[in-house]
Amino acid sequence: MLHALDKPYIVGVDLGGTNVRAAVTDRDGKILGEGREPSLAQEGVDATIQQIIKAIGSAVTDAGVDISQIAGAGMGVPGSHKSKEGIVLWSPNFKDWHGVQLLAPIREELGIPVFMGNDVNVAALGEFNFGAGRDVNSLVMLTLGTGIGGGIILDGKLVLGSTDAAAEIGHSIIMPNGPECSCGRHGCLESLAGKDAIIERAARKIQMGRKSTLIRDEDWPLWEITPAEIAQAAQEGDEVAIETMSETAYYVGIGIANAINVLNPEMVIVGGGISLAGDVLWGPLLRTVNALALTRSRRACQVVPAKLGDDAGVMGGVTLVLQELE
Ligand SMILES: [Zn+2]
Repeated sequence: MLHALDKPYIVGVDLGGTNVRAAVTDRDGKILGEGREPSLAQEGVDATIQQIIKAIGSAVTDAGVDISQIAGAGMGVPGSHKSKEGIVLWSPNFKDWHGVQLLAPIREELGIPVFMGNDVNVAALGEFNFGAGRDVNSLVMLTLGTGIGGGIILDGKLVLGSTDAAAEIGHSIIMPNGPECSCGRHGCLESLAGKDAIIERAARKIQMGRKSTLIRDEDWPLWEITPAEIAQAAQEGDEVAIETMSETAYYVGIGIANAINVLNPEMVIVGGGISLAGDVLWGPLLRTVNALALTRSRRACQVVPAKLGDDAGVMGGVTLVLQELE
C-alpha cells in the first residue's frame, strides 16, 4: 500500500452555506477534476457530511483517478472550530452546528486523512501557496463580503492562536462606540465595511435627497441595493456610489494599516467581491494605508487584490494537506 506521502493526488474542499465544491489536484495544484453539490445547510450535519462525501467522490471520478491514489483532503469551513480535532464549534451558515464532529465520519467513509480550517484561513493558505502570495513568506488576507474574514500566515505557517480564533480582523475595533456588529460589540471593521454597512451608507445618502443612478423608481426599497451595484455605479462616475466606496475603503484601510503595524507582513491580500472594484476602492484604500501604516513596515509590504477568486478555498484545502503531510 502507498504511504500518504507517495500518493500523487490531493483533494481540496470548499464548504459554503449554499454549495460544497471539491477539486482533485496534482501536487503542483493543477485541477484535474471537480465535484459540486448543494450543501443542504438546513438539513443537519449528517446530510451535509453526505454531500461533502458525494462532492469528493464526483471530483475523484471526474479526475479519472482512484480514491486509493489520494493523499488526503483539506477543507475550508465557515465559522469557529477546534480544527485539529475536526470539531465545528459554531458556523454562521449551519445554524444547528454546535460542537459537531465533522471530519471523523468523512475519514471513516473515504479512508483517507482529512483536515479542516476556518474558510478564510484556508483561503489565505491557497493564496499563499498558489496565488498572489506565492513569492512571500508572510501575509495577511482579508475577505470583504457579508462579513469580513481574515487569515494570517507568518514564516510560512498559518497562525491559529491559542484557541483557533486568530485573525478576526473583521472584529478589530475601528470606531469605539460605532455601529453594532454581528458579534454584538460596536465599531468593529465588519460593522463599518461589511455588506450591510456599505448598503446602509449608500441608502442614507439617497434618503437625504442625493441624486444617484442607484435609484430605480419611487417604491423601490433602498435596502435592495447590492455592494456590486454600488461598485459598478462608482466606476461609472456616480457620486453617491463613489463616496460610499471611498468611505468603505477608508475603514478597510485603517484595518489593514493596523494589521501591517502589528504583524509587519510582506503582503496584505484583499479578496471578496468588491476587491475587484478597481480605483474607486483601491485609491482611497491605499491612501489610507500609506497615511496610517508605519513607514518601514509599509515599505516592506505589498497590498494587493486576491488572485485565485473562487478557487482560493479548494486550493487552500490542497495546501492544508500538503502542509499537514510534509
Ligand atoms: Zn464584531
